Amino acid sequence: MTTLRIILGDQLSTTISSLHDIDKHNDLILMCEVNEEAQYVKHHKKKIAFIFSAMRHFAEGLKKKKYNLLYTKLTDKENTGSFKGEVKKTIRQHHINHIIITHPGEHRVLEDIQSWETDLNVSLEIREDNRFICSTDEFTKWVKNRKQPRMEHFYRHMRKQKTVLMDDDKPIGGKWNYDTDNRKPPKSNLTIPKPCSQKPDQITKEVISLVNEKFKDHLGELDGFDLAITRDQALKALENFLSKRMPSFGDYQDAMLEGEPWMYHSHISTYLNAGLLLPMECVKAAEDAYLNGSAPMNAAEGFIRQILGWREYIRGIYWLKMPGYADMNFFNATRPLPSFYWTAKTDMNCLKQSISETKKNAYAHHIQRLMILGNFALLTGIDPKQVSEWFLIVYTDAYEWVELPNVYGMALFADGGYLASKPYAAGGSYINKMSNYCKNCEYNVKKKTGADACPFNYLYWNFLAKNKKKLEKNHRLAMMYSTYERMDEKTKKQIKNDSLQFLENLT
Ligand SMILES: Cc1cc2nc3c(=O)[nH]c(=O)nc-3n(C[C@H](O)[C@H](O)[C@H](O)COP(=O)(O)OP(=O)(O)OC[C@H]3O[C@@H](n4cnc5c(N)ncnc54)[C@H](O)[C@@H]3O)c2cc1C
Ligand code: SF4
Repeated sequence: MTTLRIILGDQLSTTISSLHDIDKHNDLILMCEVNEEAQYVKHHKKKIAFIFSAMRHFAEGLKKKKYNLLYTKLTDKENTGSFKGEVKKTIRQHHINHIIITHPGEHRVLEDIQSWETDLNVSLEIREDNRFICSTDEFTKWVKNRKQPRMEHFYRHMRKQKTVLMDDDKPIGGKWNYDTDNRKPPKSNLTIPKPCSQKPDQITKEVISLVNEKFKDHLGELDGFDLAITRDQALKALENFLSKRMPSFGDYQDAMLEGEPWMYHSHISTYLNAGLLLPMECVKAAEDAYLNGSAPMNAAEGFIRQILGWREYIRGIYWLKMPGYADMNFFNATRPLPSFYWTAKTDMNCLKQSISETKKNAYAHHIQRLMILGNFALLTGIDPKQVSEWFLIVYTDAYEWVELPNVYGMALFADGGYLASKPYAAGGSYINKMSNYCKNCEYNVKKKTGADACPFNYLYWNFLAKNKKKLEKNHRLAMMYSTYERMDEKTKKQIKNDSLQFLENLT
């Protein structure tokens, strides 16, 4: 009788809990490329190529270390096409009586795994995902008795608990959060370093051909594929960020420039989420960069907050609230996703740029995701399920545990304010302040109404007016509601009419 240890495609860490205490001689490890996972939504080609290539490289590493590895390639004749099918086959062929697996990142997969014990008659051990800094139990404990478990409080709790940027019980520098320093608009003469780029090796080239053949109708192109696909390469990407972009990360964290998709961001989410990098090592590296003087506090603290704060918090909310979270729809939004989210064919330049870059790179930075793509979906009332599926498909870093709360909770306020204290809604002036997109747009950002007015402007007020009953008690929106109330009736009517017309054309 044998123990089977399963490694999923986003669990590519040798220190993962499912490999702890492995008996190298007797235990088997199973990794499999299955159609079910590659196809349950039509993932971007780059995402599939990244995962398969990273899996194959990880598998090579395990083989070199003489583990007993079973690896099913997508094109293997006996590939059953599903995890459950592959596990069933392995149980039969290798007399498996015990399975050890690390907690998966998606509720859908967890439900499938939980069915194995009865359906496949095997004993099953699901271990905590030890790569996260805060366990799901710790998060649940932290949330207990809090009506509104805000990220900022969670983040401070984590800073203290993990002693990050701390001077005894006080934050180094005297403040917990330097966000007010991190909202600089972009200057036109910025010299933005090139992102880290890796040349595809033979394994990656084979995967690229496979994806081009089997998933040809999926979004995106694989020309110029240059993602890191091993831990060593991912560490280089982290190092590249720390030395070249981190010093300006804080200053320009919210800035957007046409033709500059990468800005000063780290581009490590894909590697973190697949297990090639570990969150705590990234946090510690940023803390060290501050302590040794190579990065200012606003950059180091801002970056650490994203990982130790936001990433852990988002994951905590996902497991706390699923599966019901995916059915929330506070604004009863039902509009279908406009086709330009796939084609980028729109006259709204901010959307055109963000979608084109997403299609090309399978990447967009946070403010493009939140304040352009998410904001537009919020203001126009697009069905959260359709928005969420789009976000899950288009980015190489997208897994449901992180994508869904970001879309439902942060971008769409579909949870009614459990995650965010107010909707991240904004008109054109915010986009104009934080980007140069408006300069090349068919619409006029300065105009509030009329045929050539920036649609974000009237849609913003229309959204507030339409959802007044649900939002007016939110004290963070009080000023906006009083501004709206002071508008004359003619302007209000025009806002409504322009919005109706725009929305009619959208559908
Ligand atoms: C609507 C929407 C959808 C999103 N979908 C995803 C997703 O599918 N996968 C994903 O990893 N992130 C998602 N994010 C969060 C964030 O936009 C990305 O993590 C970030 O843009 C990745 O680029 P980067 O590595 O250059 O990040 P940086 O800006 O350099 O930030 C550093 C790291 O912090 C973490 N981080 C920052 N913000 C968040 C956040 N809100 N939630 C979780 N982690 C965060 C990421 O791991 C990121 O790599 C989403 C945000 C929004 C608003
Ligand atoms: S004018 Fe409006 S639609 Fe055009 S780029 Fe600016 S914010 Fe976007």
